[in-house]
Amino acid sequence: MSDFSRLRHCMVDAIARRGVKNARVLEAMRVVPRERFVSEAMAEFAYQDAPLPINEDQTISQPYIVAAMIEAAEVKATDIVLEVGAGSGYAAAVISRIAERVYSIERHETLARAAIKRLEDLEYGNAKIIIGDGTRGLSEHAPFDAIIVAAGAPVIPEALKEQLAIGGRLVIPVGDDQRQRLCKVIRRDATSYEMIELEAVMFVPLIGEHGWAEDGSRAASNHKVGASKKQSLPAMIAEAAENLPDFEDPGFGALFDRFADRRVILLGEASHGTAEFYRARAAITRHLVTRHGFTIIAVEADWPDAAAIDRFIRHRPSDQQQEPPFQRFPSWMWRNVEIRALTEWLHKHNSRIEEMEGRAGFYGLDIYNMSGSIGAVLDYLDRVDPEAARIARERYGCLTPWQKNPATYGRAALSRGYAECEKAVIEQCQMLLRQKLNYAGKDSDAFLDAVQNARLIASAERYYRIMYYGGSESWNLRDTHMFETLQHLLEAKGSHAKAIVWAHNSHIGDARFTDMGAARDELNIGQYCRQSFGDDAALIGFGTHSGTVAAADDWDGDMQVMRVNPSRSDSYERLFHDCGKVRFLLDLSPGKREPLRRLLSRPRLERFIGVIYRPQTELQSHYIQAILADQFDAYVWFDETQAVTPLGPEHHRGMPETYPFGE
Ligand code: SAM
Repeated sequence: MSDFSRLRHCMVDAIARRGVKNARVLEAMRVVPRERFVSEAMAEFAYQDAPLPINEDQTISQPYIVAAMIEAAEVKATDIVLEVGAGSGYAAAVISRIAERVYSIERHETLARAAIKRLEDLEYGNAKIIIGDGTRGLSEHAPFDAIIVAAGAPVIPEALKEQLAIGGRLVIPVGDDQRQRLCKVIRRDATSYEMIELEAVMFVPLIGEHGWAEDGSRAASNHKVGASKKQSLPAMIAEAAENLPDFEDPGFGALFDRFADRRVILLGEASHGTAEFYRARAAITRHLVTRHGFTIIAVEADWPDAAAIDRFIRHRPSDQQQEPPFQRFPSWMWRNVEIRALTEWLHKHNSRIEEMEGRAGFYGLDIYNMSGSIGAVLDYLDRVDPEAARIARERYGCLTPWQKNPATYGRAALSRGYAECEKAVIEQCQMLLRQKLNYAGKDSDAFLDAVQNARLIASAERYYRIMYYGGSESWNLRDTHMFETLQHLLEAKGSHAKAIVWAHNSHIGDARFTDMGAARDELNIGQYCRQSFGDDAALIGFGTHSGTVAAADDWDGDMQVMRVNPSRSDSYERLFHDCGKVRFLLDLSPGKREPLRRLLSRPRLERFIGVIYRPQTELQSHYIQAILADQFDAYVWFDETQAVTPLGPEHHRGMPETYPFGE
């Protein structure tokens, strides 16, 4: 089996897991080579369950949605089908493997011609591509048993309804470009139709006589949507933007006072290697800690590593046994000069506070450092209960061969029965929780450390097992663990405790308003916080146009300082850049500046750079569709940014002995 065909089977399995049941649809998806419907450069991404760019600024639809729409249209072997929006021709090809005949209309001639060639090469003779405006349908071949529209319409075009056979099904995304819902229309008889609403979706607009006009207004009527013609969108942003002062200026943090009464404030970043994002979050954090009583700083780092910082800044006894924190790739995410400055500040700030509960602590939400957590649980038990430590060693022994390289655990778990590891790590976690009364009395912080490490091990065991299958489950498990850790922290610190979360925009911006949630079924800690805390959570995103970034070009690669491409002309970032202001806060709270919020609620591309940056394939590797005004409550902008500086030996001089970032 070739690599592509193996990937295709994995992709179709994932689509089936997401709920597509129709065997003929799944079978058709298994035979159509999606890599032939995208450019050569994009072929390696062909089996990610995601839309991909094609020419004319259009997309080949996400495989899951192609399958879900064909299933909803109940396409059968004897059916004559009409598709509107042929694009690459991929969906038409899939339909042709199921139906008697498929006609597919595309308005862009270049796309249509390329699609015709592909279908000819594949010898899919029962699929015919036609150049034209599909909102009018194709009366010469009507009636159709099924009509599938692959672009978002303002309303359901009457012409398409009329071209349905009695009993025929029309599946079409309907709504403005902020909110589309997949609708299914069934023609019951000559004059009556039944309509069923299906899932929320995001499609490019259906442009034509009975769709949208090119300029975004509704072609069918003269009703205009969107921008006031008086002012451009960048000009509206400039007017609403509040300039940010220097990072050291107390006014910087004070701009965020409007969120200070929230229980949780989540601060994002558009990359893991940008100095300004760290400095801004540090300035906001210092302000919230000193002025507003926030005592939890919970970050996208592993618990045992963050715990080393916490012991230092809260003047808790240091743990000599543990290896220095943040040694794993990508070490620059936390071993950098900005974090050093913040930890130093927190160390001093806390030294003036008598009660441990009043001191601001530093905690890790992430799940990667299974080995560090195993070491930490065993050290803890060695100290408080050596007999329990012996049992824990046996339980964790199951994972020992994989501790150094847990990513290989998933592969091994596939071929051997590793259910015993799962059972053992869960039992160990439960055992610790049962001992709360016995252990916590001695040192509640040390107990919390041990329990959170045991929870991390249980989550990581599962994560590394399911990570091997790809898909949304491992992402969701990770963000669920992050959110549960935040909840445990809030619970442990009492009902008045307030938390600041530092994590990437992809974690803290509400996933329901990006392709993560809409197209990939991924959720995140920002979404969880909104769903649990409502208005008591503030989600603040960060962004940049260009500059440099610290990143690697592959996992486990060396850190490099890379140039960030200027943002794309069709991105949110470009709107902020075009507004002409270099650093600002944009408050997106509902009820404020509604016209601007509405315009920032149209799906656009948004850039996500993690620890890996691949400028050559930036569009498919780093941009996703998002609805910014719903994703965040506020947005912080730095037009040009610099790479974060990793810590070197020169940065350790003069630090206290307990300082955890030493060599
Ligand atoms: N089904 C396609 C595939 O598998 O590649 C993807 C479709 S893409 C999401 C939507 C397509 O609809 C675009 O290629 C766009 O040009 C086309 N389109 C938009 N309005 C149209 C119209 N009125 N008639 C025909 N095609 C239209």
